[in-house]
Amino acid sequence: MHILENLQTEVTKQCDVLVCGGGFAGISAALSAARAGKKVILLEKTYMLGGLATAGLVTIYLPLCDGEGRQVSFGIAEELLRLSCSMGSEARYPANWLDSDDPSKRTRADRRFEVQFNAQLFAILAEQLLQKENVEILYGFYAVGTHKAGDKIDAVIVENKTGRQAIGVKSVVDATGDCDIAHIAEAPTDTFKQGNVLAAWYYSVGAEGYKLHCLGACDTPDEEKKPGRVGQYLVNRRFTGLDGVELSEQMQLSHASIMNDLKKNRAEDPTMMPCTIATIPQIRMTRKIVGLYEMTLEDDKKYIEDSIGMVCNWKKRGPVYEVPFRALYSPKVKNLICAGRCICSTESMWDVMRVIPCCAVTGQAAGLAAAMTDDFNTLDVTCLQAELQRNGVVLHERELG
Ligand SMILES: Cc1cc2nc3c(=O)[nH]c(=O)nc-3n(C[C@H](O)[C@H](O)[C@H](O)COP(=O)(O)OP(=O)(O)OC[C@H]3O[C@@H](n4cnc5c(N)ncnc54)[C@H](O)[C@@H]3O)c2cc1C
Repeated sequence: MHILENLQTEVTKQCDVLVCGGGFAGISAALSAARAGKKVILLEKTYMLGGLATAGLVTIYLPLCDGEGRQVSFGIAEELLRLSCSMGSEARYPANWLDSDDPSKRTRADRRFEVQFNAQLFAILAEQLLQKENVEILYGFYAVGTHKAGDKIDAVIVENKTGRQAIGVKSVVDATGDCDIAHIAEAPTDTFKQGNVLAAWYYSVGAEGYKLHCLGACDTPDEEKKPGRVGQYLVNRRFTGLDGVELSEQMQLSHASIMNDLKKNRAEDPTMMPCTIATIPQIRMTRKIVGLYEMTLEDDKKYIEDSIGMVCNWKKRGPVYEVPFRALYSPKVKNLICAGRCICSTESMWDVMRVIPCCAVTGQAAGLAAAMTDDFNTLDVTCLQAELQRNGVVLHERELG
């Protein structure tokens, strides 16, 4: 059955930069755009900031360093890591990075620059930081459509408790993680072909205190074939993350896995109780923008002229990747830029680029670029780079020494 709608949608708000999605990418983008002096609105369909990293309980802020003693990600990526543990960390606290500014005093190759933080604390701290920078946060706002004038978006259509309305924009950052806005606006996108495994991360309290349980293997089918990997999967099924019914089933399977695990653990510790379960689906890779540059694992230590910052490989020590500005947008929709786990990369590189520090790096650049222009094709990248450098970002591997 088809229902035809003829809706008149009222434009209720206007802004320079609209950031859709309040995960690490969206937080970074909103901060960056607001600090550039623009009127910024951040939409988040749930009622907390942090996305997968908080509501999804993925609380491990993976490294800012290359594992060989060199920090590679700076700027807002470092600021948010420090914020995440500013009122205490849960684990992985790297004193060699956080308690000394003098590299000669500590061996920074010993432990990577990463931390396990508390989701609830971070969500509130990030909210307060954005409020301080005058970002208007709109919780419970789901971006469901775009209105275009030529090849630019002039309004994003949202739904919330009040109903359907629109927000007028100069430029838009797609930080939905799933490239929702680019998809809706008919920019070219691609999906994760291998599909995601089921994850069921949760926290418990019991005899051992407060504890994170990371259920479900963190890999892709290519790695599944490696010896020792078999048997770590919770269910024999892969998930696209792009189908409403499938996501609902995924959530219920995660809950069942948590219950099984809890029962198993209770044989040892009858006092154990789950204290936090994820309130959004724990899905890694779904949809990405088809940009002007596709990042690959072979980009390790390659000089990228339009680099907007660097990231490491959380899976191994050594690699350093400069992130091209061209990987963040498609020329098809001129005032839309992507950040976070939906930027342009190959499937294997996607697994590197989807993690928290990379989302913060791309978020900072996307937010700043959106503050500088409403046409990313014509932006002078050297101006963007100079401004990023002024804000603490290091662009090229050769500048690390
Ligand atoms: C099981 C699992 C384990 C992981 N382990 C780690 C790890 O140990 N360390 C690490 O660094 N990374 C890890 N990751 C990856 C990492 O957590 C995420 O990729 C990263 O946090 C993504 O950030 P993001 O801002 O791009 O997207 P998200 O965190 O997905 O944020 C997107 C936000 O946008 C909102 N949103 C989506 N659509 C709309 C819409 N249409 N309108 C309004 N709002 C919308 C969502 O509610 C969400 O808050 C893991 C991921 C998973 C699933």
